[in-house]
Amino acid sequence: MQRFDLTGKVAIVTGGNGGIGFGMAQGLADAGASLLIVGRNAEKNAAAKARLAAAGGRVESFIADLAQEQPVRDTIADAVRRFGRLDILVNNAGINIRKAPQDYTLAEWQRVIDINLTGLFVACHAAYPVLRQAGGGKIINIGSMMSLFGTPFVAPYAASKGGVVQLTKALATAWAKDNIQVNAVLPGWIDTELTQRARAEVPKLNERVLDRTPAGRWGTGQDMAGIAVFLASAASDFITGTAIPVDGGFAAQG
Ligand code: NDP
Repeated sequence: MQRFDLTGKVAIVTGGNGGIGFGMAQGLADAGASLLIVGRNAEKNAAAKARLAAAGGRVESFIADLAQEQPVRDTIADAVRRFGRLDILVNNAGINIRKAPQDYTLAEWQRVIDINLTGLFVACHAAYPVLRQAGGGKIINIGSMMSLFGTPFVAPYAASKGGVVQLTKALATAWAKDNIQVNAVLPGWIDTELTQRARAEVPKLNERVLDRTPAGRWGTGQDMAGIAVFLASAASDFITGTAIPVDGGFAAQG
C-alpha cells in the first residue's frame, strides 16, 4: 500500500546485522527502502547485507563502535555520502551487562550508558541537520520493557532505556516543527543473541517469560518488522513522542 511504501527512502539501522535490528531492517527493505546497516562485526555485517539484498533493494554496511562519538558521526556521514540522502534513523544497537547493582564497576555502568543512550543521542544530533534540510524524517529509538519496569540485575540498562523514552519525547517536541517524527519501540522478550545470553545467565528466565507473556511465546526479529515500517512511513506522520510496546501483551499483564 502506498501509505507504507518506502521506495526511494534511505534508512540507517544501527545493530542491523542481527536480532531485532535485522528484523526491522528486513521490514524496511521489503517496503522498498535502501539501507545502511551498522555493527562492529564485519562477518555479521556481510552476512546480513547478503540476506537483506535479496529483497531487491540497495544495502550497504558500515563498521563502527557506537560507544564513541566520532564513529557515530561517521555513520551518519557515510549514509549521506553513499546514498545522497537520509530519511529514517533506527537507533537499535544496544548491550546489557547483568549483575546486582552493587557489583557494577563505574566502567561497566559507563559502557552501557555510552552505547544505549549517549550513542543514540549523538546519532540523533548528527542526523538532525540532514533530516531538517530534507524537509523531514523519522527517528525510531529502541527502548525495552526495562524502560517501564525494574528487575534486580539491570541497573544501568534500565537507566539507559528509561532515558531513551524521555529523550524520545524531548526530541519529538523539539523537532515536530521540522516534520521529524521521533518515536520509541519497546520490545518485550525477543529471541536474539542478547537474550540467549540472558537465558544462560538468569535462572528460570525462559519459564518466567513464557508465563508472564500473554501471547505465550518469545517474540522474533520478524515480529519487529511491521512496527519499523509503520513508524518509518507516511502512515505515522501524526504520531510522535510515543513509546510503543511490541511485547505479546507483556506490559499489559497485571
Ligand atoms: P543482539 O545482541 O542480538 O544485537 C545487538 C546489535 O547491536 C548487533 O547487531 C550488534 O552488532 C550491535 N551492537 C552492539 N553494540 C554495538 C556497538 N558498540 N557499536 C555498534 N553496534 C553495536 O541484541 P537484540 O537484537 O536483542 O537487541 C537490539 C536492541 O533491542 C538493543 O537496544 C536491546 O537493548 C533492545 N531490546 C532487546 C530485547 C530482547 O528481548 N532481545 C528486549 C528489549 C530491548 P555487532 O555485534 O556487530 O557490534
